[in-house]
Amino acid sequence: MIEMFQMALEYATRRQDERLFLLGTVAIRGSDQKIVKSRNLPVMIDQDVMSGYNTRYPYPHKHSEANIIAKITPKTVIWNARGRKLDGRFAMARPCQTCETLLGYAGVEKVYYTISELEYGVMFLKSKKDDRIYQF
Ligand SMILES: [Zn+2]
Repeated sequence: MIEMFQMALEYATRRQDERLFLLGTVAIRGSDQKIVKSRNLPVMIDQDVMSGYNTRYPYPHKHSEANIIAKITPKTVIWNARGRKLDGRFAMARPCQTCETLLGYAGVEKVYYTISELEYGVMFLKSKKDDRIYQF
């Protein structure tokens, strides 16, 4: 379990990103059991628009889970990990409402996500059961 989350974060570190965290996704594809990967793709936007400060900061252009959709088939299982750059610890990576819907349409059955250094959760997209929380 933890190896899949580490693999997702390792993939996320291969891209330059100014944010204080990294987000990566690993999936075992339903059709051929192949491992596919994706990561968050931030784009730089002008903060001037938002707050009046004239600096640029990365905006989450496309979520990692949404990025993996092009690479998967129905019956895929996903591991989604967030890691803090400060200390390398896992943080909350539960897919947002939009990604949850998209992944459901793509036929994903389960998403494992990091919560903290101690816990991870499972989201059941197919059966719509409540999430389960486990300890590493
Ligand atoms: Zn999302």
